[in-house]
Amino acid sequence: MPKVGILGCDVTTREMDCVMIGCFGNLRGRQGMFEQYSEDDPPELVGIISCGGCPTAVGSDRVWQKVKALKEYGIEALHLTSCLVQVCPFTQEFVTTIRKEYPDLKIVEGTHPFHDLQAFKNGIKELTSQRAVTPQKMNDIVFKRIKVHTDEDE
Ligand code: SF4
Repeated sequence: MPKVGILGCDVTTREMDCVMIGCFGNLRGRQGMFEQYSEDDPPELVGIISCGGCPTAVGSDRVWQKVKALKEYGIEALHLTSCLVQVCPFTQEFVTTIRKEYPDLKIVEGTHPFHDLQAFKNGIKELTSQRAVTPQKMNDIVFKRIKVHTDEDE
């Protein structure tokens, strides 16, 4: 079984609570970017690691340590999540660093297809900016405008 690892976007997992349902579903079914693996020799997911989070403008090089954590378990392929590939401006810098550090590691850019890529990007933009549904903050308590959940709401 080919050992594979996944490198994901820290923001989508940690802040947006992505449980990677698309990544795992495609891996299990050998679909999407996992269709290259045969039924007789399916991929074995060794582990998942995230990029380490933004800001990355001057720090994309640190991805080498992230990948090292997976490489030490003998992965032969590293999949970058489809989220990372589509929304991260540092994807190619990550790829360059990983290729240089681990020349024998196969890098696959993506995990799953998108049904509607533009809708996905619009959704990520909203989750980032939170304009349609503005989150409540401490000032909402200070200015006595906070909305509070009650048992009757259920
Ligand atoms: S650097 Fe890219 S992959 Fe990492 S948290 Fe920021 S946007 Fe996501």
